[in-house]
Amino acid sequence: NNAPLRELHVALVGMSGSGKSAIAVKYITKRFIGEYDSTLEDTYCREETVGGQCVMVWLMDTVENASRDEMRWIAWADVYIVVYDVTSQLSFQYAEGLLERIARHEHVLCAREHQPLLIGNKSDLERYRQVSESEGERLAAQHKAYFAECSAASDLRQFTKILHNTIQNYLSGARSPSPRLCSSD
Ligand code: GDP
Ligand code: MG
Repeated sequence: NNAPLRELHVALVGMSGSGKSAIAVKYITKRFIGEYDSTLEDTYCREETVGGQCVMVWLMDTVENASRDEMRWIAWADVYIVVYDVTSQLSFQYAEGLLERIARHEHVLCAREHQPLLIGNKSDLERYRQVSESEGERLAAQHKAYFAECSAASDLRQFTKILHNTIQNYLSGARSPSPRLCSSD
């Protein structure tokens, strides 16, 4: 079949140290290395077949850096994955700020292409947990985001599952409902 290969731009965003690079590397290579260059912003790609259809997933592993155009990802991405670290309340607050920024961006465009994903990473570090799963669920519900906890170190399945759902929605042309009505009044 000669159907053009479809492409999906996915941005991984979140506070430094939350595990974005670990998730990106694990998703692409199935490996957890342990140490990641925290200054490296890189975009990876992986071909996914979902429901018999092929899609090229471009995954941008962002770095928060004031000297860069830090909002570059916001216009680039079709899908936002906001990552926090379940052992860091600060990273959770940072994630909330990012979800608000994304909502503002979508409000300006009067559109929402796809629901954002909120990911609580490092679920393997249960004894250091500072953010409960229900807090994560609540924040996701407030922002009409998908939610999952995962561990780049030990188990990325929940992450992969909700990313696949998103890819499937994309391939079927489904749009998530606009977060708010944009009227001229
Ligand atoms: P980034 O700044 O968001 O890209 O975070 P990194 O991917 O560089 O991860 C920061 C630190 O957390 C590194 O030392 C990782 O090895 C560690 N890390 C990342 N994900 C996990 C995880 O799921 N579990 C554990 N235990 N450590 C993790
Ligand atoms: Mg990184």
